[in-house]
Amino acid sequence: MAKINPNYQKLPGSYLFSEIARRTAAYTNEHPDAKLIKMGIGDVTQPLVPEVIRAMHEAVEEMSHKETFHGYGPEQGYAFLREAIVRRDFEARGVDIAADEIFVSDGAKSDCGNIGDIFSVDNVVAVCDPVYPVYVDTNAMAGRAGDYDAEKQGWTRIHYMPTTAENGFSPAIPEGKVDLIYLCSPNNPTGTVLSYEQLKAWVDYANANDAVILFDAAYERFIVEDDVPHSIYEVEGARTCAIEFRSFSKTAGFTGARCGYTVVPKDLIRDGASLNAMWNRRQTTKFNGASYIIQKGAAAIYTEQGEKEINATLNYYRANARVIAESLTKCGLTVYGAVNSPYIWVKTPDGMGSWEFFTLLLEQGNVITTPGAGFGPSGEGYIRITAFGDADATKEAMRRIEALLTCEK
Ligand code: PLP
Repeated sequence: MAKINPNYQKLPGSYLFSEIARRTAAYTNEHPDAKLIKMGIGDVTQPLVPEVIRAMHEAVEEMSHKETFHGYGPEQGYAFLREAIVRRDFEARGVDIAADEIFVSDGAKSDCGNIGDIFSVDNVVAVCDPVYPVYVDTNAMAGRAGDYDAEKQGWTRIHYMPTTAENGFSPAIPEGKVDLIYLCSPNNPTGTVLSYEQLKAWVDYANANDAVILFDAAYERFIVEDDVPHSIYEVEGARTCAIEFRSFSKTAGFTGARCGYTVVPKDLIRDGASLNAMWNRRQTTKFNGASYIIQKGAAAIYTEQGEKEINATLNYYRANARVIAESLTKCGLTVYGAVNSPYIWVKTPDGMGSWEFFTLLLEQGNVITTPGAGFGPSGEGYIRITAFGDADATKEAMRRIEALLTCEK
């Protein structure tokens, strides 16, 4: 008899987005004419930029001729993309990362999940609370999370680190020993960033405890403030303790095209094994590389024209973020994020629960947000709003919320 992985049976249903969908459907059934504006889900709305499309078309054309056709490529990614990544994302910021430390993939979600393959089931995992759910669920699937405690809304073996306004959205260094530490900056869902000093404390902890930091920088291109680190490798000592995930999804609208990369430095050794060699072994065995066409498109982001064009799109979303933050602040709400991030993390008014405020905005403003409680218990009392929407729809949503919360115009 084939036995299944029992850890899957311990997983709670993916409650958050299905519950949002359920409540939204219930409302629209009763109010079929309601013009809902979606400010909840983190997908982008603007198309791929012309330079990326041009590069992809060229690649498609190459695929149509015997002389220029590309079959299987290197599992780690084509040199043209890995080298462009090194130059723009690391060398230009004074960071020492080599092309053979870059592994191109079909996106950060796969890599954040798959990285667990190279770590033992015995490791103690630390995550922020609230958290991007992929980190937790993939460890639960691997059997690293223990059991799900429905009352505490958490797993018995996961070390949750509250990340709230009270601690400046900087999780406290654990007093005990943890082995794998997920950090995300700019953060989903809080939109906040970690400073050099805060990251240095984590790097020192990881090096002292032989832990590994799994640093998710999927929103790196949203950073605008000069003093915010773009990569964990900008922090001294990170080459011996950190893996970094990047994504072209939010950088350049690749949520549908799928491409990202992971950095595993050669100096990262645990139990006498090179994690770079292990990840290489994992990828060459289980992954056959991202598509040539998509990698050509991704490389176009690294040209002068491509960068100019994606910056225009990023600025479009940044302008939305400003509109949202200014409008909600005017209404007397406390907002976090929005500056180096497309996410606005909003404290609910008058101690309202996340779902209560979500329902108010849905039913009385016809605006769909994401209740913070869905990202973990410490997200209770917040909602997340995204800046990825259409600019006019964003303004309209804010007009409705302003009217609803009756703030001054
Ligand atoms: N990491 C974080 C923090 C995210 O919010 C997301 C997507 O929403 C991802 C990773 C996944 O990115 P990708 O589209 O590259 O799989």
